[in-house]
Amino acid sequence: MSLFQRLFTALRTGAITDQEWDEIRANLIAADLGVKLVDQVILTAKSVKVEDAKTAISQVILTWLSKKDRTLITEANTLKTILIVGVNGTGKTTSVAKLAASLKSSGNSVILGAADTFRAAGVAQLQTWGERISVEVVSGKEGAEPAAVAFDSAKRASDEKCDYLIIDTAGRLHNKNDLMAELGKVKRVVEKVLPITEVLLVIDGTTGQNGLAQAKIFSEAVEVTGLIVTKLDGSARGGVALAIESALDIPIKFIGKGEGQGDFAAFEPDSYIDGLLA
Ligand code: GDP
Ligand code: MG
Repeated sequence: MSLFQRLFTALRTGAITDQEWDEIRANLIAADLGVKLVDQVILTAKSVKVEDAKTAISQVILTWLSKKDRTLITEANTLKTILIVGVNGTGKTTSVAKLAASLKSSGNSVILGAADTFRAAGVAQLQTWGERISVEVVSGKEGAEPAAVAFDSAKRASDEKCDYLIIDTAGRLHNKNDLMAELGKVKRVVEKVLPITEVLLVIDGTTGQNGLAQAKIFSEAVEVTGLIVTKLDGSARGGVALAIESALDIPIKFIGKGEGQGDFAAFEPDSYIDGLLA
């Protein structure tokens, strides 16, 4: 039973003791919603009639969500450049491929930049994806600078006049200053060729509140325009994504629901909240 189901069941079965409220609160916190948001839910649940609780809570959650546009930023007839950032293992490379496949299937030409040059396997992984979805991947020689590869991919995309350039980046987070310096450099060199249209931050939906800390660090380094929340095919409900939207006002644009290219969808707030409260 989902946590919210447990909450609603508890509400229906009558008077809830203080100890039960504590348990419900702990359960919701464990769902990665964060203390502040959980307290808002509890306050709402306590203040409305049992039969209205679901609607009331879903309205509260709706107010946490960003009001910003969730579609990709587009400017007609220009090449759109998307930087994909995030911690290693969150699903950046997979998301680059899924997004490319999705854009291609709606008739766009796409080029990919393999700028995670710190891991040889990372470049090979994107190349394999490129072959699978028939999209060109620009990659450098082994040990090439990420910024150099990003620059080459921008040149190539610009020469080809394609619709989208999507750049995969490295996500080493051992040192915040390194990360900022590196992303800043990638951004600067790309901008010598093209403006960056969008920076999408990939968050693993199973990471919990640590995801919020990641989002804060990345959004200090670059202007993050949207989130991709991955791994929502498991038991994770991605509560952390709600916490990020609420704290930083960055809209979730896409969700990842598996390892395959089709396991990708636009984020829909209503069905997401329905899923949480189902
Ligand atoms: P990166 O290090 O950020 O580039 O992450 P990768 O794209 O290499 O993904 C790390 C692992 O997570 C891989 O095994 C992916 O197949 C897996 N992965 C990525 N997205 C999803 C998802 O939405 N669901 C599931 N179940 N696995 C995913
Ligand atoms: Mg990668």
